[in-house]
Amino acid sequence: MDLAVWVREGDEGKCAYAMDALKRAMAWDEAVYGREYDLDVFNIVAVDDFNMGAMENKGLNIFNSSAVLASPDTATDADYERIERIVAHEYFHNWTGNRVTCRDWFQLSLKEGLTVFRDQQFMGDMRGRGTKRIQDVILLRARQFREDAGPLAHPVRPESFVEINNFYTLTVYEKGAEVIGMLRRLVGEEGYARAVDLYFDRHDGQAATVEDWLKAFEDATGRDLTQFRRWYAQAGTPRVRVEAEEWKDGRYTLTLSQHTPPTPGQPVKEPFVIPVAVGLLSPNGDEAAPTRMLELTEERQSFHWDGLGARPIPSILRGFSAPVILERERPEGEAAFLLAHDRDEFNRWEAAQALARRAIRAVLEGGQPDPSWLPSLAAALRDEGLSPAYRALLMALPSEEETAASLHDEGRPVDPGAIHVAHEAIRDHLAAGLGDLLPLFHDAAQNGGPYSPDAQSVGRRSLGNAALALLVRREGPARAERQFAEADNMTQSVAALAALLSIGAGEAELAAFHDRWQHERLVLDKWFALQVAQARPEDAVAIAERLTRHPAFDWKNPNRFRSVLGALTGNPAGFHDPSGAGYRLLGSWLERLDGVNPQLAARSSGGFETWKRLEPRRRALAEAELQRLRALPRLSPDLAEMIDRMLA
Ligand code: ASP
Ligand code: ZN
Repeated sequence: MDLAVWVREGDEGKCAYAMDALKRAMAWDEAVYGREYDLDVFNIVAVDDFNMGAMENKGLNIFNSSAVLASPDTATDADYERIERIVAHEYFHNWTGNRVTCRDWFQLSLKEGLTVFRDQQFMGDMRGRGTKRIQDVILLRARQFREDAGPLAHPVRPESFVEINNFYTLTVYEKGAEVIGMLRRLVGEEGYARAVDLYFDRHDGQAATVEDWLKAFEDATGRDLTQFRRWYAQAGTPRVRVEAEEWKDGRYTLTLSQHTPPTPGQPVKEPFVIPVAVGLLSPNGDEAAPTRMLELTEERQSFHWDGLGARPIPSILRGFSAPVILERERPEGEAAFLLAHDRDEFNRWEAAQALARRAIRAVLEGGQPDPSWLPSLAAALRDEGLSPAYRALLMALPSEEETAASLHDEGRPVDPGAIHVAHEAIRDHLAAGLGDLLPLFHDAAQNGGPYSPDAQSVGRRSLGNAALALLVRREGPARAERQFAEADNMTQSVAALAALLSIGAGEAELAAFHDRWQHERLVLDKWFALQVAQARPEDAVAIAERLTRHPAFDWKNPNRFRSVLGALTGNPAGFHDPSGAGYRLLGSWLERLDGVNPQLAARSSGGFETWKRLEPRRRALAEAELQRLRALPRLSPDLAEMIDRMLA
């Protein structure tokens, strides 16, 4: 069949990777899902002004050019990955979205949750399942959990809407994908394959519903999914709590409970079916019992293991088997033990996160990180058996959003500035404490030969650049300046520039970057975004404001608008400036944009979604800006719906 990518004159040299990704996606869908393409032509067209990543129009996918165009000079590793994922996603929609489409918009997750799940599987196969799973969970926790915990929370299948564009959300997409993943865990790989085949056989050429999807699973596997349906109907992130552990006469008993907090319009929740993957480790680090998929279906339930020789150490929620928050007061030393011994890639990483969370908490409360933290982290980082990509993830801290959410969970007001200060202190602590490992990682990422976006090279660079971001804190700018000067690809340039800006250096590099790339729209977007993303909190709003007056700030272009205003809300301590200047700047731009692009204005208003959890001063300022917007005479239904939901 004929495959084609259509771009503007001059961009022909930047299509090869998208084409390659398309071919791999087609082959993968045939091999893994048994799905072939049904036309003789498949076209992708790239346009510069597009609100979303792309759209799956049959036989002619329409793409934001940022999700198509790549060359080593102009695109980063992250851009290459995003292109691969979105090209695959839109292609997969040919079956899950086009041949089987949605009866009505309430079924949006039927195609989006499922297609995201399929693109996640594809990316895992292309680039490593363990690291891919961790990256997906990072996104879910930082963005979807926030949505689920705030005024915009809604079920995977929404109950009502004014403007369906407002429901292209993290919940419909990412949580929707988690729901598919749980279904697969509950019925097993083979059951999943049978059910999906049945679904395609039955509904090819039809407009289907979530009910049809679940019915195919019930009929193919014989499993009753009545209770499972609650995942589509109830909003909010369930908390799974380890209530008790008992050890007696070779029997280990684990008691779990579940609870889901109220969300708008849903004060009381019924229990979910929650697959909780648990493995047990012996005190010497061996696997004492293989991973078992527990099914938590009641409010409180106990599970037993018999015939154990010694009291085991549990590894709970392996692979992040359900989109929940696990509440557990870990016994002293458990996280360090799992970081050293767990065979489950996800939970080993989660143990490193738990230690980092504890360190951040200690600093936030005015104390010091536990002195045993860095030695156990360094030991894991030294493990040559772990891939560089995985080690880069081990070194990454939980997001400031995660810290904010956990404070809010405890009923404490959130001060994004104070959270940022604590995270900065921890980054300094890591930089000082990881000693010779950082230069080692950075050096190993240099001289890799000609640029290639394959998983191994990307992993090496991600570890090297994670090290660089810390090294500049203790060494100053020289190493990053050298990397910037020598870089022969965009990944290395951007990482060096970001590291420089993060310590208040890089003025000359920023100017050079602008001069070199001012005629490449997608690269110039990076120039805008980096300055705002890396700005110190006290400078961020002023920098963003200044950039909106730059002659190249073409605010009607969605990518350019996001490169400044999206970057600002992505810098939480900067956006939530105690003066309220961030709220006023975003508010004034939403007001202006709403007249020409209500979809994007509505979407960008999500920067305000956490206003209710803020400490009183910021909270009042954010609310005042939302009220001001709400009172405007000509507000689009899109933006009005978002503001009404946030203020409700
Ligand atoms: N359906 C698109 C997607 O998720 C988004 C859009 O509607 O543009 O691939
Ligand atoms: Zn989609």
